[in-house]
Amino acid sequence: MTQQLILNQTIADGLDVIGDRWTLLILRSAFYGINRFDAFQAATGASRSTLTRRLNALIEHEIFYKHPYSSAANRFEYKFTEKGLGLLGPSLLAAKWESDWQTEDYIDIKGRLFHEHCGSYMTPKVICRACKGELSFDKVEWPNMAKQLDSQLEEIRTYNTQHRKRVNKQRNGHVGNSNLASLIGDRWTLLVLIASFLGVQRYDAFLNSLSTPPSVLSERLKQLVANNIFSKVEYQKNPPRHNYVLTEKGKSLFPFVMTLRQWVASESADCATPLKHSCCGKPLKIDVVCDQCDQRPWPSDMQYHHQK
Ligand SMILES: [Zn+2]
Ligand SMILES: [Zn+2]
Repeated sequence: MTQQLILNQTIADGLDVIGDRWTLLILRSAFYGINRFDAFQAATGASRSTLTRRLNALIEHEIFYKHPYSSAANRFEYKFTEKGLGLLGPSLLAAKWESDWQTEDYIDIKGRLFHEHCGSYMTPKVICRACKGELSFDKVEWPNMAKQLDSQLEEIRTYNTQHRKRVNKQRNGHVGNSNLASLIGDRWTLLVLIASFLGVQRYDAFLNSLSTPPSVLSERLKQLVANNIFSKVEYQKNPPRHNYVLTEKGKSLFPFVMTLRQWVASESADCATPLKHSCCGKPLKIDVVCDQCDQRPWPSDMQYHHQK
């Protein structure tokens, strides 16, 4: 049944750390073919007001557009724009991540993706477009870490200004400008994650490199530890000092974060310094492909088969 798309609370808590679970759920449902309000509601379990807000935000961000399906009543379907279709990869990876890290009491998402193109059940695989090699955490070169963080920070400053303005207008303002964290999640958390992908481990280093307000940073680090994204490793006894080290669960967020970043970069003119794939030395362009046939799936040739 449609209720199967509802996330288990534990996973949802994890997702709250990296993103807005409603938005991710709505996107996923839409990629599985859902496109009407009532069906979204049944699939996601969101309240009418929550769903209305998220759908409006997705339209505002030009992820969806409204398409009337009945002229008699004022009825619409929500369809992906070109830009919205670009979120297929991140959406598949978010689903994979949840499924990979499900806890024992995780029972809700039971189903498999069927790729009609090759006639197989598929798992998304992340590859380098140039050499087709699978992307891994340690095979990406960041040309200039300081510059990376700078450009990320600039985004944050822009976001914070716009966000504040908008919150004044809109009480539950979950929208900012049109990049990823304003849409999917908490910007500071993503930034902390990205810094840690770049090798930052210590509280002071996060503080210095990100210019995060200390209280915000402490809070986010605490959440990330609680969700087993970081583990705290003591490097000094007196006074006690810790490194925040990515766990396997944390490292496995890498492809998701990278594809999201790529999507953001493709939608904004000057975001993000190009990264390099150290296996082939080419600028890194990521493709999310079917692990069975190595082709990029398309919403129209994927089916979601529920399992009982
Ligand atoms: Zn490559
Ligand atoms: Zn396939």
